[in-house]
Amino acid sequence: MTLRNLPSVHSVIDHVAPHWPTLAHAQVRAAVRDVLETWRDLVRSGAHVPTLEQIATEVIQALERQLRPSLQALINASGVILQTNLGRAPLSKAAQEALTAAALGYTNLEYDLLAGERGSRSTHLAAQLQRVTGAEAGLVVNNAASALVLILSALAHEREVLVSRGHAVEVGGGFRIPDVLAQSGCRLIDVGTTNRTYVRDYAAAISERTGAILRVHTSNFHIMGFVHQPSVAELVALAAETHVPLIDDLGSGALLDTSRWGLQPEPRIQDAVAAGVDLVVCSGDKLLGGPQAGIIVGKAALIKRLAQHPLMRALRVDKLTIAALSATLAAYERGTAEQELPVWQMISTAPEQLQVRAERIVAALPLTAAWRIEPAESTVGGGTLPGSTLPSVALVCSTAHPDALALRLRSQQPPVVGRISAGQVVLDLRSVLPHQDAALIESLRQLTLTS
Ligand SMILES: *Cc1c(COP(=O)(O)O)cnc(C)c1O
Repeated sequence: MTLRNLPSVHSVIDHVAPHWPTLAHAQVRAAVRDVLETWRDLVRSGAHVPTLEQIATEVIQALERQLRPSLQALINASGVILQTNLGRAPLSKAAQEALTAAALGYTNLEYDLLAGERGSRSTHLAAQLQRVTGAEAGLVVNNAASALVLILSALAHEREVLVSRGHAVEVGGGFRIPDVLAQSGCRLIDVGTTNRTYVRDYAAAISERTGAILRVHTSNFHIMGFVHQPSVAELVALAAETHVPLIDDLGSGALLDTSRWGLQPEPRIQDAVAAGVDLVVCSGDKLLGGPQAGIIVGKAALIKRLAQHPLMRALRVDKLTIAALSATLAAYERGTAEQELPVWQMISTAPEQLQVRAERIVAALPLTAAWRIEPAESTVGGGTLPGSTLPSVALVCSTAHPDALALRLRSQQPPVVGRISAGQVVLDLRSVLPHQDAALIESLRQLTLTS
Protein backbone atom coordinates (compact mmCIF):
# COMPACT_ATOMS: atom_id res chain seq x y z
CA MET A 1 0.00 0.00 0.00
CA THR A 2 1.68 3.20 -1.22
CA LEU A 3 -0.12 5.42 1.32
CA ARG A 4 2.17 3.92 3.95
CA ASN A 5 5.15 5.32 2.07
CA LEU A 6 3.99 8.87 2.89
CA PRO A 7 6.20 10.39 5.59
CA SER A 8 4.77 10.47 9.11
CA VAL A 9 3.51 13.68 10.74
CA HIS A 10 6.45 13.47 13.14
CA SER A 11 9.13 13.19 10.51
CA VAL A 12 7.73 16.21 8.61
CA ILE A 13 7.53 18.26 11.81
CA ASP A 14 11.16 17.40 12.60
CA HIS A 15 12.10 18.49 9.09
CA VAL A 16 10.16 21.77 9.20
CA ALA A 17 10.77 22.78 12.82
CA PRO A 18 14.27 24.26 12.28
CA HIS A 19 12.74 26.76 9.81
CA TRP A 20 10.05 27.78 12.31
CA PRO A 21 11.62 27.51 15.76
CA THR A 22 9.25 30.10 17.25
CA LEU A 23 5.92 29.13 15.67
CA ALA A 24 3.47 27.52 18.07
CA HIS A 25 3.85 23.79 17.76
CA ALA A 26 0.13 23.27 17.17
CA GLN A 27 0.17 25.61 14.16
CA VAL A 28 3.03 23.68 12.50
CA ARG A 29 1.35 20.38 13.29
CA ALA A 30 -1.95 21.57 11.76
CA ALA A 31 -0.19 22.72 8.59
CA VAL A 32 1.63 19.37 8.30
CA ARG A 33 -1.63 17.46 8.74
CA ASP A 34 -3.33 19.59 6.05
CA VAL A 35 -0.56 18.99 3.52
CA LEU A 36 -0.38 15.26 4.27
CA GLU A 37 -4.17 14.97 4.01
CA THR A 38 -4.10 16.53 0.53
CA TRP A 39 -1.33 14.17 -0.56
CA ARG A 40 -3.18 11.14 0.81
CA ASP A 41 -6.08 11.96 -1.52
CA LEU A 42 -3.72 12.53 -4.45
CA VAL A 43 -1.86 9.27 -3.87
CA ARG A 44 -5.15 7.39 -3.52
CA SER A 45 -6.15 8.67 -6.93
CA GLY A 46 -2.90 7.50 -8.47
CA ALA A 47 -0.30 10.24 -7.90
CA HIS A 48 3.27 9.22 -7.07
CA VAL A 49 4.40 9.49 -3.43
CA PRO A 50 6.14 12.83 -2.77
CA THR A 51 9.49 13.08 -1.00
CA LEU A 52 9.88 14.33 2.55
CA GLU A 53 11.56 17.50 1.17
CA GLN A 54 8.65 18.15 -1.18
CA ILE A 55 6.14 17.90 1.65
CA ALA A 56 8.28 20.03 3.97
CA THR A 57 8.49 22.75 1.27
CA GLU A 58 4.72 22.77 0.91
CA VAL A 59 4.26 23.04 4.67
CA ILE A 60 6.67 25.99 4.82
CA GLN A 61 4.80 27.70 1.97
CA ALA A 62 1.50 27.13 3.75
CA LEU A 63 2.90 28.60 6.98
CA GLU A 64 4.26 31.62 5.08
CA ARG A 65 0.82 32.21 3.56
CA GLN A 66 -0.72 32.13 7.05
CA LEU A 67 1.76 34.72 8.30
CA ARG A 68 1.08 37.10 5.43
CA PRO A 69 -1.40 39.84 6.43
CA SER A 70 -4.85 39.26 5.00
CA LEU A 71 -5.10 42.89 3.95
CA GLN A 72 -2.79 43.40 0.97
CA ALA A 73 -1.86 46.27 -1.30
CA LEU A 74 -2.88 45.58 -4.90
CA ILE A 75 -2.99 47.09 -8.37
CA ASN A 76 -6.44 48.35 -9.33
CA ALA A 77 -6.71 47.92 -13.10
CA SER A 78 -10.52 47.73 -13.00
CA GLY A 79 -10.90 51.27 -14.33
CA VAL A 80 -13.10 52.17 -11.36
CA ILE A 81 -11.29 54.90 -9.45
CA LEU A 82 -13.27 54.73 -6.19
CA GLN A 83 -13.98 51.04 -5.62
CA THR A 84 -15.48 50.43 -2.18
CA ASN A 85 -14.32 46.79 -2.41
CA LEU A 86 -10.76 47.96 -3.13
CA GLY A 87 -10.61 50.48 -0.28
CA ARG A 88 -11.84 53.64 -2.09
CA ALA A 89 -9.44 56.60 -2.28
CA PRO A 90 -5.68 56.00 -2.21
CA LEU A 91 -4.02 58.55 0.07
CA SER A 92 -1.65 61.32 -0.98
CA LYS A 93 2.04 61.24 -0.16
CA ALA A 94 1.51 64.02 2.41
CA ALA A 95 -1.33 62.09 4.04
CA GLN A 96 0.79 58.95 4.16
CA GLU A 97 3.66 60.85 5.79
CA ALA A 98 1.37 62.49 8.35
CA LEU A 99 -0.19 59.14 9.15
CA THR A 100 3.20 57.47 9.61
CA ALA A 101 4.47 60.27 11.85
CA ALA A 102 1.37 60.00 14.05
CA ALA A 103 1.56 56.20 14.11
CA LEU A 104 5.18 55.82 15.16
CA GLY A 105 5.09 57.92 18.31
CA TYR A 106 3.05 60.02 20.68
CA THR A 107 0.89 62.96 19.57
CA ASN A 108 -1.01 65.87 21.09
CA LEU A 109 -4.25 64.01 20.22
CA GLU A 110 -6.07 65.25 23.34
CA TYR A 111 -3.42 67.51 24.79
CA ASP A 112 -3.20 71.30 24.72
CA LEU A 113 0.50 72.06 24.18
CA LEU A 114 0.19 75.71 25.28
CA ALA A 115 -1.73 75.07 28.46
CA GLY A 116 0.07 71.81 29.21
CA GLU A 117 -3.21 70.12 30.02
CA ARG A 118 -5.97 67.99 28.56
CA GLY A 119 -7.26 69.18 25.17
CA SER A 120 -9.90 67.96 22.71
CA ARG A 121 -9.32 65.73 19.71
CA SER A 122 -12.00 67.55 17.73
CA THR A 123 -9.91 70.75 17.58
CA HIS A 124 -7.45 69.27 15.09
CA LEU A 125 -9.85 69.31 12.14
CA ALA A 126 -12.49 71.86 13.13
CA ALA A 127 -10.71 75.02 11.97
CA GLN A 128 -9.54 73.41 8.75
CA LEU A 129 -13.06 72.23 7.90
CA GLN A 130 -14.33 75.77 8.49
CA ARG A 131 -11.75 77.27 6.15
CA VAL A 132 -12.18 74.66 3.40
CA THR A 133 -16.00 74.54 3.38
CA GLY A 134 -16.96 77.98 4.72
CA ALA A 135 -19.09 76.36 7.45
CA GLU A 136 -19.46 77.74 10.99
CA ALA A 137 -18.21 74.45 12.46
CA GLY A 138 -17.15 70.91 11.58
CA LEU A 139 -16.91 67.49 13.19
CA VAL A 140 -15.49 64.16 12.01
CA VAL A 141 -16.68 60.63 12.85
CA ASN A 142 -15.94 57.10 11.64
CA ASN A 143 -17.78 57.31 8.28
CA ALA A 144 -20.80 58.96 6.65
CA ALA A 145 -23.11 56.23 7.94
CA SER A 146 -22.03 57.00 11.53
CA ALA A 147 -22.48 60.70 10.85
CA LEU A 148 -26.13 60.07 9.91
CA VAL A 149 -26.75 57.87 12.96
CA LEU A 150 -25.20 60.52 15.24
CA ILE A 151 -27.15 63.41 13.72
CA LEU A 152 -30.49 61.60 13.69
CA SER A 153 -30.01 60.26 17.23
CA ALA A 154 -28.98 63.66 18.58
CA LEU A 155 -31.55 65.82 16.79
CA ALA A 156 -34.54 63.64 15.97
CA HIS A 157 -34.71 60.74 18.42
CA GLU A 158 -38.38 59.70 18.89
CA ARG A 159 -39.34 62.36 16.39
CA GLU A 160 -40.34 62.41 12.75
CA VAL A 161 -37.86 62.84 9.90
CA LEU A 162 -39.14 63.93 6.49
CA VAL A 163 -37.57 62.10 3.54
CA SER A 164 -38.65 62.40 -0.09
CA ARG A 165 -39.81 59.06 -1.51
CA GLY A 166 -37.14 59.57 -4.17
CA HIS A 167 -34.47 59.79 -1.46
CA ALA A 168 -35.29 56.65 0.57
CA VAL A 169 -32.42 54.88 -1.14
CA GLU A 170 -30.05 51.96 -0.66
CA VAL A 171 -26.53 53.36 -0.75
CA GLY A 172 -24.61 50.10 -1.10
CA GLY A 173 -23.68 47.02 0.90
CA GLY A 174 -27.28 46.83 2.14
CA PHE A 175 -27.03 50.27 3.77
CA ARG A 176 -30.56 51.71 3.49
CA ILE A 177 -31.74 55.13 4.58
CA PRO A 178 -35.04 53.87 6.14
CA ASP A 179 -33.06 51.36 8.26
CA VAL A 180 -30.69 54.07 9.49
CA LEU A 181 -33.65 56.17 10.58
CA ALA A 182 -35.22 53.25 12.42
CA GLN A 183 -31.90 52.44 14.10
CA SER A 184 -31.61 56.06 15.26
CA GLY A 185 -35.03 55.93 16.87
CA CYS A 186 -36.69 58.20 14.28
CA ARG A 187 -39.98 57.82 12.47
CA LEU A 188 -39.63 58.09 8.70
CA ILE A 189 -42.26 60.27 7.06
CA ASP A 190 -42.37 59.64 3.31
CA VAL A 191 -42.83 62.84 1.37
CA GLY A 192 -43.99 63.20 -2.24
CA THR A 193 -43.62 60.40 -4.78
CA THR A 194 -40.74 58.37 -6.21
CA ASN A 195 -40.32 60.67 -9.20
CA ARG A 196 -41.86 64.00 -8.12
CA THR A 197 -41.61 65.74 -4.77
CA TYR A 198 -42.37 69.45 -4.24
CA VAL A 199 -41.48 71.77 -1.40
CA ARG A 200 -45.21 71.99 -0.61
CA ASP A 201 -45.16 68.22 0.11
CA TYR A 202 -42.53 68.81 2.79
CA ALA A 203 -44.43 71.84 4.15
CA ALA A 204 -47.62 69.81 4.46
CA ALA A 205 -45.82 67.09 6.45
CA ILE A 206 -44.24 69.41 9.04
CA SER A 207 -45.74 69.36 12.53
CA GLU A 208 -44.59 69.79 16.12
CA ARG A 209 -43.38 66.15 15.91
CA THR A 210 -40.90 66.89 13.12
CA GLY A 211 -37.26 66.50 14.16
CA ALA A 212 -35.49 67.06 10.86
CA ILE A 213 -35.71 67.19 7.08
CA LEU A 214 -33.24 64.79 5.45
CA ARG A 215 -32.09 65.15 1.84
CA VAL A 216 -30.10 62.24 0.43
CA HIS A 217 -28.05 62.56 -2.72
CA THR A 218 -29.11 59.84 -5.16
CA SER A 219 -25.46 59.11 -5.76
CA ASN A 220 -25.57 55.69 -7.40
CA PHE A 221 -28.50 55.95 -9.81
CA HIS A 222 -30.33 58.39 -12.09
CA ILE A 223 -34.02 58.76 -12.63
CA MET A 224 -34.89 60.55 -15.81
CA GLY A 225 -38.00 61.95 -17.42
CA PHE A 226 -40.99 63.24 -15.44
CA VAL A 227 -39.06 64.09 -12.27
CA HIS A 228 -38.91 66.91 -9.74
CA GLN A 229 -37.15 67.59 -6.45
CA PRO A 230 -37.26 70.97 -4.67
CA SER A 231 -34.08 73.03 -4.89
CA VAL A 232 -31.80 73.25 -1.85
CA ALA A 233 -32.75 76.94 -1.55
CA GLU A 234 -36.46 76.09 -1.29
CA LEU A 235 -35.80 73.56 1.47
CA VAL A 236 -33.45 75.94 3.29
CA ALA A 237 -36.21 78.57 3.31
CA LEU A 238 -38.79 76.06 4.58
CA ALA A 239 -36.39 74.79 7.29
CA ALA A 240 -35.62 78.33 8.48
CA GLU A 241 -39.28 79.32 8.55
CA THR A 242 -40.35 76.22 10.52
CA HIS A 243 -37.22 75.95 12.73
CA VAL A 244 -36.62 72.37 11.60
CA PRO A 245 -32.98 71.49 10.84
CA LEU A 246 -32.21 70.58 7.22
CA ILE A 247 -29.66 67.76 6.84
CA ASP A 248 -28.07 67.11 3.45
CA ASP A 249 -26.34 63.74 2.93
CA LEU A 250 -24.15 64.45 -0.08
CA GLY A 251 -22.62 60.97 -0.10
CA SER A 252 -19.33 61.59 -1.86
CA GLY A 253 -19.19 65.31 -1.37
CA ALA A 254 -16.70 66.97 -3.68
CA LEU A 255 -14.72 70.14 -3.04
CA LEU A 256 -13.68 70.48 -6.71
CA ASP A 257 -16.02 70.83 -9.68
CA THR A 258 -16.23 67.45 -11.46
CA SER A 259 -17.71 69.03 -14.60
CA ARG A 260 -14.23 70.42 -15.37
CA TRP A 261 -13.33 66.91 -16.55
CA GLY A 262 -16.49 66.30 -18.56
CA LEU A 263 -18.22 64.46 -15.71
CA GLN A 264 -21.68 65.16 -14.31
CA PRO A 265 -21.48 67.86 -11.65
CA GLU A 266 -21.26 66.13 -8.24
CA PRO A 267 -22.74 68.37 -5.50
CA ARG A 268 -20.01 70.36 -3.74
CA ILE A 269 -19.79 70.63 0.04
CA GLN A 270 -19.09 74.38 0.04
CA ASP A 271 -22.16 75.00 -2.17
CA ALA A 272 -24.47 73.18 0.26
CA VAL A 273 -22.97 75.19 3.13
CA ALA A 274 -23.32 78.48 1.23
CA ALA A 275 -26.95 77.64 0.40
CA GLY A 276 -27.65 77.55 4.16
CA VAL A 277 -28.07 73.81 4.82
CA ASP A 278 -27.92 73.25 8.60
CA LEU A 279 -25.78 70.09 8.51
CA VAL A 280 -23.92 68.72 5.48
CA VAL A 281 -22.67 65.12 5.60
CA CYS A 282 -20.15 63.38 3.34
CA SER A 283 -17.55 60.60 3.25
CA GLY A 284 -13.83 61.24 3.69
CA ASP A 285 -12.68 58.54 1.27
CA LYS A 286 -14.77 59.20 -1.84
CA LEU A 287 -14.13 62.30 -3.99
CA LEU A 288 -12.59 64.11 -1.03
CA GLY A 289 -9.65 61.73 -1.54
CA GLY A 290 -8.79 61.10 2.12
CA PRO A 291 -9.11 58.30 4.68
CA GLN A 292 -12.39 56.64 5.70
CA ALA A 293 -14.26 59.27 7.72
CA GLY A 294 -17.67 60.89 8.09
CA ILE A 295 -17.48 64.64 7.73
CA ILE A 296 -20.17 66.86 9.21
CA VAL A 297 -20.11 70.63 8.64
CA GLY A 298 -22.72 73.29 9.33
CA LYS A 299 -24.26 75.41 12.06
CA ALA A 300 -22.15 75.75 15.21
CA ALA A 301 -25.02 75.25 17.68
CA LEU A 302 -26.00 71.92 16.07
CA ILE A 303 -22.41 70.68 15.75
CA LYS A 304 -22.00 71.42 19.48
CA ARG A 305 -24.99 69.22 20.29
CA LEU A 306 -23.51 66.40 18.22
CA ALA A 307 -20.10 66.74 19.89
CA GLN A 308 -21.74 66.41 23.33
CA HIS A 309 -23.85 63.37 22.45
CA PRO A 310 -22.84 60.08 24.16
CA LEU A 311 -22.64 58.30 20.77
CA MET A 312 -19.77 60.61 19.82
CA ARG A 313 -17.44 58.55 21.98
CA ALA A 314 -18.38 55.38 20.10
CA LEU A 315 -18.04 56.96 16.67
CA ARG A 316 -14.94 59.09 17.16
CA VAL A 317 -11.94 58.82 14.82
CA ASP A 318 -8.42 57.82 15.83
CA LYS A 319 -5.17 59.78 15.50
CA LEU A 320 -4.30 58.08 12.19
CA THR A 321 -7.52 59.26 10.55
CA ILE A 322 -7.06 62.78 11.92
CA ALA A 323 -3.48 62.90 10.61
CA ALA A 324 -4.37 61.67 7.13
CA LEU A 325 -7.53 63.77 6.80
CA SER A 326 -5.79 66.92 7.96
CA ALA A 327 -3.03 66.45 5.36
CA THR A 328 -5.69 65.83 2.70
CA LEU A 329 -7.64 68.98 3.60
CA ALA A 330 -4.38 70.95 3.54
CA ALA A 331 -4.05 70.16 -0.18
CA TYR A 332 -7.42 71.89 -0.78
CA GLU A 333 -6.32 74.85 1.34
CA ARG A 334 -3.13 75.19 -0.72
CA GLY A 335 -5.11 74.79 -3.97
CA THR A 336 -2.98 71.79 -4.97
CA ALA A 337 -5.61 69.03 -4.59
CA GLU A 338 -5.63 68.24 -8.31
CA GLN A 339 -1.85 67.73 -8.36
CA GLU A 340 -1.49 66.10 -4.94
CA LEU A 341 -4.46 63.81 -4.33
CA PRO A 342 -4.45 60.51 -6.25
CA VAL A 343 -8.22 60.60 -6.84
CA TRP A 344 -8.03 63.91 -8.70
CA GLN A 345 -4.77 62.93 -10.43
CA MET A 346 -6.50 59.84 -11.81
CA ILE A 347 -9.62 61.78 -12.84
CA SER A 348 -7.62 64.54 -14.54
CA THR A 349 -5.08 62.37 -16.43
CA ALA A 350 -5.44 62.87 -20.20
CA PRO A 351 -5.91 59.70 -22.32
CA GLU A 352 -2.74 60.69 -24.22
CA GLN A 353 -0.72 60.29 -21.00
CA LEU A 354 -2.29 56.87 -20.42
CA GLN A 355 -1.43 55.92 -24.02
CA VAL A 356 2.26 56.75 -23.40
CA ARG A 357 2.26 54.60 -20.26
CA ALA A 358 0.50 51.73 -22.07
CA GLU A 359 3.10 51.79 -24.87
CA ARG A 360 5.94 51.77 -22.33
CA ILE A 361 4.41 48.80 -20.52
CA VAL A 362 3.84 46.78 -23.69
CA ALA A 363 7.38 47.59 -24.93
CA ALA A 364 8.79 46.13 -21.70
CA LEU A 365 6.97 42.79 -22.13
CA PRO A 366 8.35 39.69 -23.89
CA LEU A 367 7.43 39.52 -27.59
CA THR A 368 5.18 36.53 -26.89
CA ALA A 369 2.95 38.58 -24.57
CA ALA A 370 -0.56 38.84 -25.99
CA TRP A 371 -1.52 42.25 -24.61
CA ARG A 372 -2.66 44.95 -27.04
CA ILE A 373 -3.56 48.57 -26.40
CA GLU A 374 -7.17 49.67 -26.83
CA PRO A 375 -9.31 52.67 -25.87
CA ALA A 376 -11.52 52.09 -22.81
CA GLU A 377 -14.04 53.86 -20.60
CA SER A 378 -13.31 54.35 -16.88
CA THR A 379 -15.79 55.29 -14.18
CA VAL A 380 -15.38 57.20 -10.94
CA GLY A 381 -17.35 54.64 -8.89
CA GLY A 382 -17.79 54.59 -5.11
CA GLY A 383 -21.45 55.43 -5.56
CA THR A 384 -20.67 58.64 -7.42
CA LEU A 385 -21.47 59.98 -10.86
CA PRO A 386 -23.57 57.11 -12.27
CA GLY A 387 -23.51 57.13 -16.06
CA SER A 388 -20.46 59.41 -16.31
CA THR A 389 -17.35 57.92 -17.93
CA LEU A 390 -13.83 59.10 -18.65
CA PRO A 391 -12.05 58.11 -21.89
CA SER A 392 -9.17 55.79 -20.99
CA VAL A 393 -6.57 53.38 -22.36
CA ALA A 394 -6.36 49.69 -21.50
CA LEU A 395 -4.21 46.63 -22.06
CA VAL A 396 -6.47 43.95 -23.49
CA CYS A 397 -5.88 40.20 -23.81
CA SER A 398 -8.16 37.90 -25.77
CA THR A 399 -8.12 34.39 -24.38
CA ALA A 400 -10.36 31.34 -24.42
CA HIS A 401 -10.35 31.37 -20.61
CA PRO A 402 -10.64 34.98 -19.38
CA ASP A 403 -11.68 33.88 -15.86
CA ALA A 404 -8.54 31.76 -15.54
CA LEU A 405 -6.31 34.64 -16.69
CA ALA A 406 -8.06 37.07 -14.31
CA LEU A 407 -7.46 34.61 -11.45
CA ARG A 408 -3.76 34.31 -12.35
CA LEU A 409 -3.50 38.11 -12.37
CA ARG A 410 -5.11 38.24 -8.93
CA SER A 411 -2.64 35.60 -7.70
CA GLN A 412 0.39 37.79 -8.50
CA GLN A 413 2.36 39.70 -5.84
CA PRO A 414 1.01 42.37 -5.73
CA PRO A 415 -2.37 41.10 -7.02
CA VAL A 416 -3.65 42.74 -10.22
CA VAL A 417 -7.43 43.27 -10.38
CA GLY A 418 -8.72 43.84 -13.90
CA ARG A 419 -12.12 43.43 -15.46
CA ILE A 420 -13.59 41.03 -17.99
CA SER A 421 -15.43 42.63 -20.85
CA ALA A 422 -16.83 40.87 -23.94
CA GLY A 423 -14.81 37.74 -23.06
CA GLN A 424 -11.51 39.64 -22.87
CA VAL A 425 -9.36 40.59 -19.90
CA VAL A 426 -9.07 44.37 -19.69
CA LEU A 427 -6.49 46.24 -17.60
CA ASP A 428 -7.58 49.90 -17.53
CA LEU A 429 -4.62 52.15 -16.78
CA ARG A 430 -6.61 55.12 -15.44
CA SER A 431 -7.01 53.49 -12.01
CA VAL A 432 -3.44 52.15 -11.92
CA LEU A 433 -1.24 54.49 -9.88
CA PRO A 434 1.72 55.53 -12.08
CA HIS A 435 4.25 54.33 -9.50
CA GLN A 436 2.76 50.83 -9.87
CA ASP A 437 3.55 50.55 -13.61
CA ALA A 438 6.85 48.78 -12.85
CA ALA A 439 5.10 46.21 -10.64
CA LEU A 440 2.43 45.72 -13.32
CA ILE A 441 5.13 45.09 -15.96
CA GLU A 442 6.79 42.57 -13.65
CA SER A 443 3.49 40.72 -13.09
CA LEU A 444 2.70 40.58 -16.79
CA ARG A 445 6.25 39.36 -17.55
CA GLN A 446 5.93 36.58 -14.97
CA LEU A 447 2.59 35.57 -16.45
CA THR A 448 3.95 35.45 -20.00
CA LEU A 449 7.07 33.49 -19.01
CA THR A 450 5.13 30.92 -16.98
CA SER A 451 2.30 30.31 -19.44
C1 LIG B 1 -21.43 56.46 0.25
C2 LIG B 1 -22.65 57.08 0.82
C3 LIG B 1 -22.92 56.97 2.19
C4 LIG B 1 -22.10 56.14 3.12
O1 LIG B 1 -20.83 56.64 3.29
P1 LIG B 1 -19.80 55.83 4.20
O2 LIG B 1 -18.70 56.82 4.42
O3 LIG B 1 -19.37 54.63 3.41
O4 LIG B 1 -20.47 55.44 5.45
C5 LIG B 1 -24.04 57.61 2.69
N1 LIG B 1 -24.86 58.30 1.88
C6 LIG B 1 -24.63 58.42 0.54
C7 LIG B 1 -25.58 59.23 -0.29
C8 LIG B 1 -23.51 57.82 -0.04
O5 LIG B 1 -23.28 57.94 -1.35
